[in-house]
Amino acid sequence: MDEPWIELLNSDWHDYMGKSPPQDRLEDPQWLQKFLAQWQLSRSVIAAKTTLNSLSQLRSLLKQLVLRIIKGHCLRSDDIKKLNAYLADGPFHCQIQQAPEADHEYRLWFDSVENNLKTTLAHIAKSFADILVEGDPARIKLCENPDCRWVFYDSSRSRTRRWCEGASGCGNLLKVRRFRERKKKKSRSN
Ligand SMILES: [Zn+2]
Repeated sequence: MDEPWIELLNSDWHDYMGKSPPQDRLEDPQWLQKFLAQWQLSRSVIAAKTTLNSLSQLRSLLKQLVLRIIKGHCLRSDDIKKLNAYLADGPFHCQIQQAPEADHEYRLWFDSVENNLKTTLAHIAKSFADILVEGDPARIKLCENPDCRWVFYDSSRSRTRRWCEGASGCGNLLKVRRFRERKKKKSRSN
């Protein structure tokens, strides 16, 4: 399952088939409402200009940090300071939730005491901080399809995933392309 920080990063959307121009999904009020509702981020944040600017700023920061990590660099103290500034707008209280996918799995959810734009940003920043602290930052990757560049967390055991997955992911697309190429070659050689 994706996390809010990954979804925010991927709101800077590129067509993995390379056919349509890029789209900023933050500018789509329906996408934004769905995003906020899915992560129970806020009932009071609306698709106003300040919201979009703030989310877009956080997205740029996360993109910078992710690119540093992917290149194998450490985060600079300045990067951490910026991330901490978002986290300082918590505060959070801890709640336990049953995982929607599996009855026997539980997860901790940090709910915000207040529900506003600042706590929403803090929440998204926290989902990224959790990966830094408890996850494995080396598993953060960019899809290698140059048309896609989707950010994903490689949770495969071998850590060797190179493309984003899912029904419309590049892993599938490339499989289909390779299959077609093989078929073409076969029919030519017949
Ligand atoms: Zn991809």
